[in-house]
Amino acid sequence: MIPLVKPIFGKKEKQLISEVLDSGIVASGKYVENFEKKFAKLSKAKFAIACSNGTTALNSALLACGIKTGDKVITTPFTFIATSNSILYCGAKPIFVDINPKTYNIDAKSVEEILKKEKNVKAVICVHLYGLPCNMDQLLKLKKKYKFVLIEDACQAHLAKYKGKTVGAIADVGAFSFYATKNMTTGEGGIVLTNNSKIDFLARKIINHGRTAHYEHDMLGYNFRLTNICAAMGLAQCEQIEKWTKQRISNAKKLSEGLKNLDFLVTPVVPKGYTHVFHQYTLRITNGLRDEFMKYLKDNGIGCAIHYPEVVYKQPLYKKLGYENGLCPIAEQAVKEVVSIPVHPSLTNKDIDTIIKVIKGFKK
Ligand SMILES: *Cc1c(COP(=O)(O)O)cnc(C)c1O
Repeated sequence: MIPLVKPIFGKKEKQLISEVLDSGIVASGKYVENFEKKFAKLSKAKFAIACSNGTTALNSALLACGIKTGDKVITTPFTFIATSNSILYCGAKPIFVDINPKTYNIDAKSVEEILKKEKNVKAVICVHLYGLPCNMDQLLKLKKKYKFVLIEDACQAHLAKYKGKTVGAIADVGAFSFYATKNMTTGEGGIVLTNNSKIDFLARKIINHGRTAHYEHDMLGYNFRLTNICAAMGLAQCEQIEKWTKQRISNAKKLSEGLKNLDFLVTPVVPKGYTHVFHQYTLRITNGLRDEFMKYLKDNGIGCAIHYPEVVYKQPLYKKLGYENGLCPIAEQAVKEVVSIPVHPSLTNKDIDTIIKVIKGFKK
């Protein structure tokens, strides 16, 4: 079986985790601080605030930007549920807009249509889905015109670049996840990234019970802190992430070359000036046989999965909140056609050749 995901751990992770255990300081501490500094530097941002996971990073980012009960926040329905749940946690209302059918990312034109007619839109969360940056120029232009907070959900996009800029702190604030399946991992973990010192100051308080001084708290905060144990892992992973990213990009290139000109599928698009870091390498199966294709891949030893099998607003929770079907037809079509295949850095050239050969054999 060629697995869809494979986290990589080396001697460095074990060494640093061991150091933490020997130090006796296993909760917050120096390793967390160093991890924040290291990830900020890698991402070319001023400030990083480590969190317990990507969801709490998103939640903290929204709260630090002042999102509160009654506010409206625009986002994509073609993402992991955490993106819009983080809006609900603030008491705000997610407004879903459709995606671009080629990039799968939020469509700026549809965002503007909502901005024209809806009052009280305080923020937009764009998701750099599968590791491909959103069209930030278009979104930043809208931000200037309509004045809202622009938040990047970069949970799948470590070190992805848009026109030379590393994602996460291109807009006001960004959130990353270090969940086990992401491009780098701390088991569970996340980080808020920003160049804005006020957002940094607030996010840091929010993740730590609104603490101002020892046992003094002036706002409602949470315990969203990362541990030294996780940060130790993260520090070790930071040393590899650039190499792994190059490998993902190179694997994706080989896959796209080998799979071109097949009439039943579409390979991922990488617009000029974008660096896609291929958290997922996602095909679109256009002949209506996606589920058969997946069974065929699995029968032939190739791991695959659907990201995502349903648009967020069709989840039972969101239906209960009153969202109706048909809101975003392009996203509703995509959930029926997409399938992700292995692209992780542990793939060998032989694995890639096997994947290409098997896929070419579908329905011959
Ligand atoms: C993984 C992910 C999250 C949530 O991160 P967790 O660390 O699992 O909480 C949010 N948004 C997107 C797009 C993700 O892929």
